Amino acid sequence: MLNGKILTPGNFRICRGNVIMLMMPIYSHSQLSMYQQCPLKYKLCYRDKIKRDTEGVEAFLGTTVHETLKKCYDDARLTRVNTLDELLAYYENIWQQNWHDAIIITKKDLGQEHYRALGRKLVESYYRRYAPFDADITIATEMMINFQLEDSRKHRLIGYIDRLARTGDDIYEIHDYKTSAHLPSQEDADNDRQLGLYQIGIQKRWPDIKNIRLIWHYLAFDRELVSSRSGEVISKLVTETSRLIDEIETTADFRPQESGRCEWCEYPDLCPLRKHFYQLEALPVNEYRREPGVVLVNKYAELKEKASEIDMEIGRVKEAILDYAREQQVEVIKGSDRKVRLRFDEKLKFPGKNDAGRQELDSTLIEAGKWPEVSQLDTALLARAIEGGQWDKGLIYEVMKHGRIETVSSIHISKLKDEVE
Ligand code: SF4
Repeated sequence: MLNGKILTPGNFRICRGNVIMLMMPIYSHSQLSMYQQCPLKYKLCYRDKIKRDTEGVEAFLGTTVHETLKKCYDDARLTRVNTLDELLAYYENIWQQNWHDAIIITKKDLGQEHYRALGRKLVESYYRRYAPFDADITIATEMMINFQLEDSRKHRLIGYIDRLARTGDDIYEIHDYKTSAHLPSQEDADNDRQLGLYQIGIQKRWPDIKNIRLIWHYLAFDRELVSSRSGEVISKLVTETSRLIDEIETTADFRPQESGRCEWCEYPDLCPLRKHFYQLEALPVNEYRREPGVVLVNKYAELKEKASEIDMEIGRVKEAILDYAREQQVEVIKGSDRKVRLRFDEKLKFPGKNDAGRQELDSTLIEAGKWPEVSQLDTALLARAIEGGQWDKGLIYEVMKHGRIETVSSIHISKLKDEVE
C-alpha cells in the first residue's frame, strides 16, 4: 500500500525493459539514465507516453540472449543442464519466432544474419566459460525488485535482476548480462548505479543479507567485472538518486541532448535536432535537393565560404596598405570615394601566460616584491607599471629582459563625407 493505493503491476507498464509510470512515482535505472542522456527523449517516452513499435536490432539481440541465459539457469536449477547445441537451438528458435518487421538495423552494411550469428557467439562463449552452471546456487532469474528508495519519500524503484545467486561462502551475487560492444572500466563498474540500486532492493527484501557482490558479464569480451558497495556508498547513491528524481519531477526544461545514441532514437520525427534529417530521408534525391531547408543551408555555406575568402583577401590588402603607408611615410591614404587612416602606436609587450620566458618573468617580479602589483598575470598591468616609471631602474631593466616593443597597427575605413578621427 502506498499513499492509499495498492502497488500492483497495473500501476505501471513495461516498455522494452523500461518502466512507464502510470499512477505511482516509480522509476527504473533505465528511466533515470534516459533522462540523463536526453531529457527530451525521456519526456516523449515517459511523460507524453508516445509509443513506438520500432526496436533496434541491438536491443532485440540483447533480449534474445538474456532469454536464452534465463532458460539455461532455470533448467539448471531443475538439475537439467542443457547441452550447448540444445541451448543454441533454443536461441535460434526464439530469434526466429520473435523477429518482426519493425526491427531497425542502422548499420547499412550489416544484416539480420550478422546479428543473429553474433548473439549465437555470445551464448556460446558464455556457455563454454560457465557450464555446468553449478558454481553457486541460483536463487532467481529475471527477478523483479520493487522498493521504496527512502522511507520518508514516496518514490519507488523497480528493476529486474538477470540472476541472483548465493555462493558456498554465503555471498549473494547480483549478475547482469551485457551484450554491448563497449567494455567499461573498473571505475565505471564501481560507480554503476543500476546494480547499486539492485543491491538496495535485495537488502530491503532480506535485511539479514550483508555480503553482496555485483557482477557484470560482458559477453562480447568474455569478461567479468566485479564490484561491491559499502554502506557509505549506498547511502550516497540513495541521496544522489533522490536528488535526480527531484530534478526530473521539478524541471520544465526537457532539452534534446545530441549524442551517438540519436542513431537509435525512436523519436527523430519529434526532435528539433533530428527532425529535418528524418524528413529528408523520405524524399527522393531530386526532391531532396530542392527542399527549401537544404537550399538555404547550401546557400549559407556557399556565402560563408566566400566570406572567409574575402576575409583572407582583406587581410592581404590590409598588409599591402600598411606597407604602402610605411614606404610613402603617410598616415592617411586617399581612394576614389573613401580614405583610410592608419595609426602606428608602440606598446610594451611581455610573454603571455603560456609563452616562453613567462616563468622567469614571474620569478623576477616575485623576488622583487612587485608581484601583488601585477598579479593575476596581467601583462597589460605590468606594461603600464614599466611605462609609468613607477619602479626603480634596476628592476625595470630586469623586467625588460622579458619584454619587447611591438608595433600595433589598425585600420579604420569610412566614406570621405563621414570623416571621423
Ligand atoms: S534524436 Fe537524440 S537528441 Fe533527439 S530526442 Fe532522440 S536522443 Fe534526444
